Amino acid sequence: MTESTPARPTDTAVRRTGPGRSEPGRSEAGRQVRPATEGWSQKKDAEGRPMLQFASPKRGKPPVHLADLTPEQRVEKVKELGMPGFRAKQIEKHYFRHFTSDAAEMTDLPAAGRDELIAGLLPPLLTEVRRLETDRGDTIKFLWKLHDGALVESVLMRYTGRITLCVSSQAGCGMNCPFCATGQAGLTRNMSAAEIVEQVVRANRLIADGGLGDPRKVGHEGERVTNIVFMGMGEPLANYARVMQAVRTMVDKDHGIGMSARGITVSTVGLVPAIQKLTKEDIPVTFALSLHAPDDQLRDELIPVNSRWKVDEALDAARAYFDTTGRRVSIEYALIKDMNDHAWRADLLAEKLNARGKGWVHVNPIPLNPTPGSIWTSSEPDVQNEFVRRLNEAGIPTTLRDTRGKEIDGACGQLVATEDDQRAADTVPTA
Ligand code: SF4
Repeated sequence: MTESTPARPTDTAVRRTGPGRSEPGRSEAGRQVRPATEGWSQKKDAEGRPMLQFASPKRGKPPVHLADLTPEQRVEKVKELGMPGFRAKQIEKHYFRHFTSDAAEMTDLPAAGRDELIAGLLPPLLTEVRRLETDRGDTIKFLWKLHDGALVESVLMRYTGRITLCVSSQAGCGMNCPFCATGQAGLTRNMSAAEIVEQVVRANRLIADGGLGDPRKVGHEGERVTNIVFMGMGEPLANYARVMQAVRTMVDKDHGIGMSARGITVSTVGLVPAIQKLTKEDIPVTFALSLHAPDDQLRDELIPVNSRWKVDEALDAARAYFDTTGRRVSIEYALIKDMNDHAWRADLLAEKLNARGKGWVHVNPIPLNPTPGSIWTSSEPDVQNEFVRRLNEAGIPTTLRDTRGKEIDGACGQLVATEDDQRAADTVPTA
């Protein structure tokens, strides 16, 4: 939700809970269910239902790229471009392992026809508009312009022992979550599989060139992105086919980047049929359900897609994912001050998770990062701690996540192209 002047939730109907203030045994009638918050109104469609955009608006398609094609299609494409099929393997190696799209660097390809071949297989997809660094260079946010001028972002973060890239899967998002900066701008379009993969390739190139973290430190040779989280712009499961094609390329050891599927986290706000489809894929990615509320009364408003698939249906689908894959599910929970951070909601969440068995789930509460001009802000530290304590006490492993990238608006729910970004993008010619 964006407003011209920042407002704060009114506290009249809001009962704060926290250490010493919680009343978990309170009757349902006494619970605060929906905060009386000024300025909180959900966007509705013509029939009065919560606004949701599943279909991608029609726009010019991005050029077809190596990473959009199956290995067999790549061979065919190389032949179409007048070269023997085995050249496809060489180009895969240059792109996925050496992170280059530059024909001049591919000296093992014949000089005659090389430029045309590479132009046909590795067309430019992302033009870098801006790069912002924080955490002494350990966190970098990229603003990319796509071929049609749409803007997307990705955030690269170095942690001890791993490098994580938060990727976008759509330009904008159609899920209309009121606390999320991306959701407020609506869906511009789905990204292609190659546009998703290219974010990883470009990040790997930057790492290989020593661009992440302190360049004086040694021992980073051979480093590359180890973890991918689909928590940038977009709802990944609303762009299912392209996201899965991108994931297949990320994990393909012979024809792709060769990452571990376990290092890839696909998240969703709860598109249940798509979760069921993901469960049947033979790719053991980590699955994260962005729940944000354990009760339908609140979740219907916080996560409009809850009007289609309710909390219990989403949790059942998450549990089924664990049953089939053996991969422990993550529940993401943005802690929003006076909205969803009540002790009774922590208890209810624990109850619902425990009702579906033990050892299958982990909860990651994350303090919400306020959107500029928004009424939505993060819970107080004592409330956060109490929320986590209650879940842990109920036997649900729970870890408060850090909010890396906060300073550069690169944390979850904060990736959105601003007017300033748009102005910067307008000055950059599309590749
Ligand atoms: S929270 Fe996720 S699903 Fe909801 S609007 Fe934002 S990007 Fe979309």
